[in-house]
Amino acid sequence: MAGQPVMIMGEDAQQLRDRDAQAHNISAARAVAEAVRTTLGPKGMDKMLVGSTGDVTVTNDGVTILDEIDIDNPTAQMIVEVAQTQEDEAGDGTTTAVAVAGELLKQAEDLIEQEVHPTTIIRGFTAASEFTRAEIEELTTSVDGNEELLRAVAETAMTGKGAEANKEVLADLVVRAVQAVTIEADDGSTIVDVGFVESGTEIGRGVEESELVHGAVINKDPVHPDMPTDFDEANILLTLDPIEASEADVDASVTVTDASQIDAFLDAEEEELTEKVELLKDLGVDVVLAQKGIDDVAHHYLKEAGILAMRRTNKSDIQFLREVLGARVVSDLDSATKEDLGRGSVRRHETTDTFRFEGLNDDSHGVTIMLRGSTSTVIDEMERGVEDALDVVATAAGDGRLVAGGGAVEVELARHVRDYADSVEGRQQLAIEAFADALELVPRTLAENAGLDAIDALVDLRSAHDDGKTNAGLDVFSGEVVDSYEAGVVEPTMAKQQAIASAAEAANLVLKIDDVLDAGEGDDDEGGPGGPGGPGGMGGMGGMGGAM
Ligand code: ADP
Ligand code: MG
Repeated sequence: MAGQPVMIMGEDAQQLRDRDAQAHNISAARAVAEAVRTTLGPKGMDKMLVGSTGDVTVTNDGVTILDEIDIDNPTAQMIVEVAQTQEDEAGDGTTTAVAVAGELLKQAEDLIEQEVHPTTIIRGFTAASEFTRAEIEELTTSVDGNEELLRAVAETAMTGKGAEANKEVLADLVVRAVQAVTIEADDGSTIVDVGFVESGTEIGRGVEESELVHGAVINKDPVHPDMPTDFDEANILLTLDPIEASEADVDASVTVTDASQIDAFLDAEEEELTEKVELLKDLGVDVVLAQKGIDDVAHHYLKEAGILAMRRTNKSDIQFLREVLGARVVSDLDSATKEDLGRGSVRRHETTDTFRFEGLNDDSHGVTIMLRGSTSTVIDEMERGVEDALDVVATAAGDGRLVAGGGAVEVELARHVRDYADSVEGRQQLAIEAFADALELVPRTLAENAGLDAIDALVDLRSAHDDGKTNAGLDVFSGEVVDSYEAGVVEPTMAKQQAIASAAEAANLVLKIDDVLDAGEGDDDEGGPGGPGGPGGMGGMGGMGGAM
């Protein structure tokens, strides 16, 4: 399905301080954008990345690409940072942000050639970006707890990625996971915390056996094979304190001189350990998970007491269990109380031998998506897809706003931005019009990447929008113009809003650098080596200034 792999090599840094600096900055940034642009959309190409050690990654993911290529150029680096911010804040729309930024810079190059000063362009882009941010509200649909819409959001996020083949199963898991960690705040707002969604994987079974566990899955063996493994309602203790004899006793062993002293010492140690187990019994503990060790001598006593115990539990597992069970993590066993205990059911899974903990307390929360697949490659791809979709669905569920994808919202916004440009005086108008053109890069690229004629597609889309079909977008599989919303191609408004704003910001940053260089070379040029180019640069920039 994917096109031919493309190889990207790192670009050597080159510091230019002459009049080509501006063109160079723009082209470096555009080169990055161009590399990523061809991956946009479900039919985007895969890229093959060859690392410095010869390792090869094949991916369709914009962020992965930007992570992997080694970018020395500071302007190109800015574009990468935009992508990272977009990923962190919205979890999606990275390729869009980068590609639109590249297109804005291309438009800016044309404008600079027409003697429009970068400052004017920056102002125009900023105005258009702010206008777009507000205007997108008009094109937004509310989620209103509609599960089907959320599943469509998840599927849209996974389309074209490795997880696609299983997107229905995975979308359903993702939506249920998000719902499980969604709470209504006192002020009526919706809070979705994907920090309470964990994922686990198991190789060797069908994807359709993947499931959502309402709790934690812990891959640990009990310290003793004969311990009980299943509880309907257990009191569970999470502890940072090891269940071991205290340090003082261990040190004392150094000074023993005869056998009776050793026996006495061992007795003392054993007594201390049995006391600790007694203490757990008195508290009514059924299950104990220690982040640190549990002395071998204690294993037997714990088993005798009917307690299920696990040692060396991961810190992250302990923290997640705390949420799932509504427990407090105890740092000193001697001062543990009943209130510290979590309540939950415990089950040992037959085929995997993993333990499932499900909370019974009112304040317990946290779910685990257990992914199953035939090979680790399949599972890795699924996990990436699920992670992406989780963020996107969380954004959509939390924010509650959606827009139509497939280029629909961009074409509609471009129309509005063009109307807005008409109301703006002077050369800034040109920059605002250019912004509208840059928005349409999205449908053009979706078409191009799908092997369709980009111009025809855009003409069809524009005419549908002129007829009032605000959700008309491209079906990249059939090449037809469809109602993207009805086709289930929907994206969170917030991600789109953020992507467009980030693109404008990135383009402006790159354009602004020239101003800095311009001024820098005039007053306190510390970039000595660039000396000879300096005066030429001034001349070039000076000419630009006059053009404003
Ligand atoms: P990004 O990193 O920007 O999210 P993607 O490669 O995920 O980039 O592509 C997102 C774009 O693909 C969006 O414009 C989205 O509307 C579009 N898209 C996703 N699924 C479909 C589909 N089935 N048909 C048409 N467009 C789609
Ligand atoms: Mg995406």
